[in-house]
Amino acid sequence: MAQNKEHIVLFPFMAQGHIIPFLALAQLLEQKKGCTITLINTPLNIKKLSSSFPPSSSIRLLEIPFKSSDHGLPPDAENTHALTHRLIFKLFQASLSLKPSFKHVMHNLVHERNGHGRPACIISDIFFAWTTEIAHELGMRHAVFSTVGGFGMACYYSLCLHLPHLKAKSDEIEFTLPDFPEANKFHSSQLSENLRASNGTDPFALYMKKVFTEVMKTNALIINTVEELDRIGTMYLRKTFNMPVWAVGPLLLSSENGTNRAGKEAAKLTPKACKNWLDAKTPNSVLYISFGSQNTISKSQMMQLAMALEASSKNFIWVVRPPLEYDIESEFKEDEWLPEGFVQRIKTQNKGLIVEKWAPQVEILSHKATSAFLSHCGWNSVVESLVHGVPLIGWPMASEQFFNAKYLVEQVGVCLEVARGKSCEVRHEDIVAKMELVMNETEKGNQMRRKACEAKEIIKDAMKDEYGHKGSSIKALEDFLTA
Ligand code: UDP
Repeated sequence: MAQNKEHIVLFPFMAQGHIIPFLALAQLLEQKKGCTITLINTPLNIKKLSSSFPPSSSIRLLEIPFKSSDHGLPPDAENTHALTHRLIFKLFQASLSLKPSFKHVMHNLVHERNGHGRPACIISDIFFAWTTEIAHELGMRHAVFSTVGGFGMACYYSLCLHLPHLKAKSDEIEFTLPDFPEANKFHSSQLSENLRASNGTDPFALYMKKVFTEVMKTNALIINTVEELDRIGTMYLRKTFNMPVWAVGPLLLSSENGTNRAGKEAAKLTPKACKNWLDAKTPNSVLYISFGSQNTISKSQMMQLAMALEASSKNFIWVVRPPLEYDIESEFKEDEWLPEGFVQRIKTQNKGLIVEKWAPQVEILSHKATSAFLSHCGWNSVVESLVHGVPLIGWPMASEQFFNAKYLVEQVGVCLEVARGKSCEVRHEDIVAKMELVMNETEKGNQMRRKACEAKEIIKDAMKDEYGHKGSSIKALEDFLTA
């Protein structure tokens, strides 16, 4: 239906982990297929993006009104990274209020004279699948873009459907999903707080039920994944959602507008300073640690992690967000969060970099000094790591991250889990042992590096766009556009 120069409207959820891959999708659609793009979001998100992404002639940013304080949220809280964990679900609920203004903007876009022309298609976030109805009213095609991988989304869907009947919520229970046996056994510790607390009729369960009901109405599902790496997940989704599922990933921002720029305001470490520091390190000697844009660990977990980093022989870059017990906007408090003298000692030894809130992640992962990534296994982080052939040490925290880690451990062989969740007890000795196992020339470490390199090659191949050879992701994007 859509062709070159077609105007496509993109509508990501208000979270860095969603906005970043949507921007990458915008770039891909513009650069590879010559589409014109309007990306819609709330005022503060658009404002932040406009300073980092001056709109080109083909990518336009458009805001729709939203006032967080009208919904019991702190003022100016328009993105999950500005919210403590317990308020994030409130932002999801509040986002439902965007419906009338989104509809209004779409009507304006249809009738505007000097813009990009009548939009042919809306590609929305999974959490904005309610836009399907608006697209269809206006005679447009609609697709949902999942910023989460196929396996993660499949597990999440199946769990929402079956969990209330699974009796899996008590501790130390293993279970399988009746409609997704290929995913193997799950352990109750792999359930996020929301899923664990859900009884099928609570606000979270009802919200997710509605989300998936809306997703069922869209025309296609686009996923930021690679078919060859994520087959059982994409197959499950095709079967269950009964619609075309296009694996078009990995969608990464080009380095000029890299993720560091998307989070530029929060960034304290410039890509150049970071590169200089990494350049001085030997290859494969640095552990990169980040729990993404919205998660954090507790103060006691942070202490154990710091002790592990100091005890190990490895270098590190650690992105520190305020621990769970503190306000998300809290200033860095090294005396309270970290062992006494830690910052000074690692500085003197030039062993580690502590980065407050935001680091140039893609630049770090692409550097030859980086050996492994201790990650919460958010899907973008996973993809960014594998693109660069970097194995992971998993510490999933929330939502589908547990399933991403499971997939990386069991199906891809590139991850070793070190901990699960925000309230688990971790011991620094165990963290050191896992770091050394993964980063040293051990049998396990070598195997994980080999698998990570294999994944990197598979990904490269999926994105090939050469005469006579189109990779699966490029082909999927073309097929989606011409379907
Ligand atoms: N990110 C970054 N610097 C940071 C933290 C995060 O550039 O210090 C980027 C990261 O590269 C990724 C996104 O933010 O693109 C985080 O998405 P992910 O799905 O990994 O986790 P989420 O933040 O959604 O939990």
